[in-house]
Amino acid sequence: VAKELGRNRYQFYAPEMNMRALDRLTLESDLHRAIERNELFLMYQPQLDLKTENVVGLEALVRWRHPSRGLISPGQFIPIAEDCGLIIPIGNWILESACTRRAYWASQGLTTGSMAVNISAHQFRQADFCDRINDVLLRTGLRPDLLELEVTEGVIMQGIDQVLNKLNLLRELGVTLAIDDFGTGYSSLNYLKQFPLHCLKIDQSFTRGLPNDQGNEAIAKAIIQMGHSLGLKVLAEGIETKEEENHLKALGCDAGQGYLYAKPLSTGDCEEYLRVTHRD
Ligand code: C2E
Ligand code: MG
Ligand code: MG
Ligand code: MG
Repeated sequence: VAKELGRNRYQFYAPEMNMRALDRLTLESDLHRAIERNELFLMYQPQLDLKTENVVGLEALVRWRHPSRGLISPGQFIPIAEDCGLIIPIGNWILESACTRRAYWASQGLTTGSMAVNISAHQFRQADFCDRINDVLLRTGLRPDLLELEVTEGVIMQGIDQVLNKLNLLRELGVTLAIDDFGTGYSSLNYLKQFPLHCLKIDQSFTRGLPNDQGNEAIAKAIIQMGHSLGLKVLAEGIETKEEENHLKALGCDAGQGYLYAKPLSTGDCEEYLRVTHRD
């Protein structure tokens, strides 16, 4: 009987494990063709000045329209792309597409502030990363100050000398730098003050439940005060309610992004949003 049970259990679990490994493998091989087959696309989420409600930026967020599985979120495929090195061509495609779009909207007289692009660890650590940024600016003709690069704490708090070099080079190019998901990683304040940064993005887990969540209230307040003391702009991610917005305003937070204002929008919807709500 025990043997029977054991075998049944084996049969139950093993195929599932194989499925997961297989799943990843097939996703990875599908991902190889995703760019050339035009399956990747960007959505854009507006970032608003909390005082004026003007759009001060857009964040580009990548999506994968898989031919048989439908829409796949970046949380599912970016880690795979990171592991197998595909993040380099994919990251370049994202940069190129976002800059091209922003330059086009500028030519249409649409005010959107900067275009924020998420940069993954592997991408940032490439020796020629700054050259790639320079290339994409030259190719697309985008004004450098309209490109904002989002990196996480984990990416810039490792290998400080090289990182500082890179960040300074990027600053010389004229692009701006934001720390994404701030507060979820480990930041050395000593390095933070040396880095040529422009913006701290408070992670959405700390925006949640303001002002009633006392822990989050303390953290949001501390990040805003510290950011301002260091001369940085502070943006809160994931604002979903008026209460969260009101409290962040009261704390002096500069900008916000979240479902309260707009979900990530398709190119067409974003253009419509910009035309209707904000014009030069
Ligand atoms: P992130 O950069 O922190 O992006 C914010 C995420 O929060 C986005 O999820 C966005 O859709 C979601 N979000 C925005 N407002 C709200 C809100 O009010 N409530 C809630 N619950 N969620 C909100 P998304 O698009 O699924 O992206 C997830 C993560 O995947 C991003 O986190 C980023 O780390 C990564 N990612 C997205 N696009 C790219 C990309 O082009 N390149 C790279 N390397 N990573 C990307
Ligand atoms: Mg981001
Ligand atoms: Mg974030
Ligand atoms: Mg995140």
